[in-house]
Amino acid sequence: MVRRRGIYEIKIRDKQLICPFCQNNRFTHREVYMDLAKFKQEAKEQLTLQSFTCTTCGDSRMFQEKNRFDHTMEKHVSIIEYTEVINE
Ligand SMILES: [Zn+2]
Repeated sequence: MVRRRGIYEIKIRDKQLICPFCQNNRFTHREVYMDLAKFKQEAKEQLTLQSFTCTTCGDSRMFQEKNRFDHTMEKHVSIIEYTEVINE
């Protein structure tokens, strides 16, 4: 499980994540689990989401982790890039 403390600037597929409400670009991160088969008898299927909460207004975005092939590194990497922000 990923657990990150601190404040991050986030890139999703090389695009900067900007809060749609206040245009801030700093977020806190947490991983969120959702049970998909809540009302069925079968084993529960769990969806893992990366949640980013705007440090200014609290608006939250959630993304499902996906991989893309990076041709420079010649391996699969996450589409989500985290850059830790040092607070001034
Ligand atoms: Zn915001």
